[in-house]
Amino acid sequence: MRALIYDGSLRFVRDAAVAQPGEGEALLRILKAGICNTDLELMNGYMAFSDILGHEFVARVEAGPDDLIAQRVVCEINVACGDCDFCAAGVPSQCRRRRTIGIDRYPGGFADYLIAPVANLHRVPDNVSDDEAVFVEPLAAALQVTEAVHISPRDRVVVLGPGKLGLLVAQVLKLTGADLVVPVRREKQARLLERWGILAVEAGSLPPGQADVVVDCTGVEDGFATALELVRPRGTIVLKSTYHGLPQANLTRVAVDEIRVIGSRCGPFDAALRLLERGLVDVTSMIEKRYPLERGVEALQAAAEQGMLKVLLDVSED
Ligand SMILES: [Zn+2]
Ligand SMILES: [Zn+2]
Repeated sequence: MRALIYDGSLRFVRDAAVAQPGEGEALLRILKAGICNTDLELMNGYMAFSDILGHEFVARVEAGPDDLIAQRVVCEINVACGDCDFCAAGVPSQCRRRRTIGIDRYPGGFADYLIAPVANLHRVPDNVSDDEAVFVEPLAAALQVTEAVHISPRDRVVVLGPGKLGLLVAQVLKLTGADLVVPVRREKQARLLERWGILAVEAGSLPPGQADVVVDCTGVEDGFATALELVRPRGTIVLKSTYHGLPQANLTRVAVDEIRVIGSRCGPFDAALRLLERGLVDVTSMIEKRYPLERGVEALQAAAEQGMLKVLLDVSED
């Protein structure tokens, strides 16, 4: 099969092996996939990854349980062990022995086929397009912010880093009715936010120490320091970033001003599908470029350009 492999260098191949699904697994034919900043980080050495990339995709089930055959599905990325304490507690995303599709010791979806655990699959409603379904994984991650911290409609909320994930987080938090603001540097992001009815302000113009909740989606090391500057005493910082290096920040302020710092990772797929089914978020406006799988190397280069929004890979015709 065709696949986009990273093993120290990125290459497109036509002769990757197709495995057969075992018990509790399904064979997925990938339709479309999305490129995420995590894919770019993996190519910079994150997780020492060496396999087929890709964790945001929509697929059709080719082999597996009868009730799933020919169904369109999206796939949760954590492949859990099923018997550690976190699995027993119903939190497979924190499984102590988890592998992660396209991220950590498990092949990804930038390929014609992928074997995935049936337990990870969610059917895509008919009125959610393939383009939209590609966003379910990052949209679920955006929803995890509201799972991790209570946001009241009275809260002043700042979303830092209006990239692909930050724009989804902003759309989700808008639904809470909170007093939401997103600092931006680029016209493109400002226009999108304006279209969604979300206030965009010039980066660096917000007063320090005022926000009840700051969500850091910057993915850069000084994002945490900026969040710490904007949050009020006893406020909350939610970290969505995985930082390259170690962030430098004044942690004394965390202690003295009693600031809560909360990490947030993967989120609820069912809720993400519901938001798309009901048209409560706009994801297709975030698609900036698309490439066929054959031009995947070029696609990942384009995705790495500053300020680039979503780059999609068209893998197979449905
Ligand atoms: Zn991602
Ligand atoms: Zn487990």
